[in-house]
Amino acid sequence: MEIKFVCPNCRVLQGGNLRSLVPFDESQATAFVTCNYCNRGAVIFVVNLKIRKEHAGSDLISNFPWQEAQQLDLRNVHPLPPRPREVPNLPENVRRAYLDGEEHLATRHYRSAVAAYRTSLERSLRNLDTEDAASKGTLFKKIEAFAKKYSIPEALIQLMHSVRDFGNDIHEDVDPTEDEAKLAAECATLLLIYIFDLPARVEAVKARKQRVVE
Ligand SMILES: [Zn+2]
Repeated sequence: MEIKFVCPNCRVLQGGNLRSLVPFDESQATAFVTCNYCNRGAVIFVVNLKIRKEHAGSDLISNFPWQEAQQLDLRNVHPLPPRPREVPNLPENVRRAYLDGEEHLATRHYRSAVAAYRTSLERSLRNLDTEDAASKGTLFKKIEAFAKKYSIPEALIQLMHSVRDFGNDIHEDVDPTEDEAKLAAECATLLLIYIFDLPARVEAVKARKQRVVE
């Protein structure tokens, strides 16, 4: 039995295969569905069914008059769809690129994900580079020039190069793997926390302290 549902694993509106349907009462049932796109399973809660006594029993899927079910109303899908992480205190253009990366990662578009994280890095550099020290050349050269100008810790430079490096995979013939994309996401997240979120939080604490002291 085929049904349409937004798969919580790949977040694509998909045909899914109804494997099992267990009635809860005469209008609701719990179902196990496998996604035709990613082949993963999801448990969904179906409401607005009209389950009559003769349909119930062990084989509801084959007994149920599906032509009567106009549209299945699905609620409470498990697992919950992955949510994009948010890094607070990002400049708007950096935030948009980062969220794009998170969105593509959740829907398993790894090539687009690493490209978006790379864009968030490029925009970060442009935002922070108030003296225009790193405006020319390849991203590699920009990072190096930026690091030199603003005396950036080595660990941070390495993170920048990792995000750049994974982002460069878009020029390869093979797409980045899930592991590579997840690692790029991790590096980008740490980087953005370090360069935008942490300083903003430190400032906020300083301001609070100031108010307490006064
Ligand atoms: Zn799926």
